[in-house]
Amino acid sequence: MTKVDVVVVGGGLGGLYSAYGLAAAGLSCVVLEATERLGGRILSLPVADAAPLGVDLGPTWFWPHQRRMQDLLAELRIPWFEQYIEGDALYQMEPGMATQRFPGAGAMAAYRVRGGLQRLVDALAASLDPGSVRLGHPVTILEREGGLWRVGDGAGHFTFEAPHLILAAPPRLLLERLPLARWLPAGLSERLAATPTWMAGQAKFVATYRRPFWRAAGLAGDAFSRVGPLVQIHDASADREAGPALFGFVGLPAAVRAGHDEEDFKALCLHQLAGLFGDHALDTVNTYLKDWAQDPWVATPRDAMEPSMHPELDLGPYRDALAALGLGFAATEAAPMEGGLLEGALVAAELAVADIVAAHGPSPVQARQPAAGP
Ligand SMILES: Cc1cc2nc3c(=O)[nH]c(=O)nc-3n(C[C@H](O)[C@H](O)[C@H](O)COP(=O)(O)OP(=O)(O)OC[C@H]3O[C@@H](n4cnc5c(N)ncnc54)[C@H](O)[C@@H]3O)c2cc1C
Repeated sequence: MTKVDVVVVGGGLGGLYSAYGLAAAGLSCVVLEATERLGGRILSLPVADAAPLGVDLGPTWFWPHQRRMQDLLAELRIPWFEQYIEGDALYQMEPGMATQRFPGAGAMAAYRVRGGLQRLVDALAASLDPGSVRLGHPVTILEREGGLWRVGDGAGHFTFEAPHLILAAPPRLLLERLPLARWLPAGLSERLAATPTWMAGQAKFVATYRRPFWRAAGLAGDAFSRVGPLVQIHDASADREAGPALFGFVGLPAAVRAGHDEEDFKALCLHQLAGLFGDHALDTVNTYLKDWAQDPWVATPRDAMEPSMHPELDLGPYRDALAALGLGFAATEAAPMEGGLLEGALVAAELAVADIVAAHGPSPVQARQPAAGP
């Protein structure tokens, strides 16, 4: 049994940023992450072996009004750049119809992390005490006794005890995996179950190239299609002038995608890109496909079936009851603003940490540590 001030369940952006805030406040914590990697829905894979650049298979953008993302990236010295939108956009209306070309891709001012969002995850993790992040720690047991949470995997591989618990995973997934409902104030478990996990039912395809041939043709890389399988395509280059790539969101429902062989499906996506951007699109360096609906630590079966909807979970009415339980929620779905987005994960984590810091005062666990000897 290991004792800490705060146990954080989930090593995505919300969980790691919670740990970052807790460390700054002088509180000890452990982040328990079910899988063997940190980042959750953030996933950047290397453009090519040993390349420092990555392509984003989860989130891509953050936006100019999102100050927390920009402040955090600046604090961690991670550079970002503007999404490439110079040139025309394409529209595929129906099979057999000629692709239409529109002047100007539109003023979608959006920012991207140079080399991939995983850099943010890695930098947050690197700032933490290495012992405070545990991979391969799926939490399935939650108990509360004598004002302390006891958190473990039920098989006795690990147990942590703390007066405070931050749950930083999609709410409805938590409800499915943990005996959480019995501890919650009346009505909250129904609210959590009804909260969709943003983008959990989506799939993303990325193709990397030696050069951004679409730009040379005066195209931004933006394309919209009612033909598919990709419905919305953008320039996904890892930096403004490096790691050329295109990405697209897959438009087919998760159940239909599940019936396809991955390589066959990638070939379909490339065929569509070639129809839009010409045969250069077939000359890839690499292709990537990530179906989030198949990820058991992100999507529940309900997420895979429902249309994508921004979460609207108002924890305000439950805040006092949760504070009394020493329980906070730090996944993006719990944010009162920017819910579902990266910025929302930062908002939710900030609130969860602020509640704990307000309730906790100086760290009793640290105070209990024996003073260092001479
Ligand atoms: C395809 C896609 C595109 C997106 N595009 C954008 C975008 O462009 N801009 C934007 O702002 N946002 C975007 N998003 C949303 C963005 O990814 C999320 O807002 C953000 O990553 C959520 O972080 P989180 O920490 O709240 O949750 P998650 O990233 O889901 O992290 C939760 C973590 O908890 C772990 N976990 C779950 N259950 C347990 C358990 N029982 N025990 C231990 N660990 C557990 C999971 O393994 C995971 O690592 C996109 C998402 C996807 C999938």
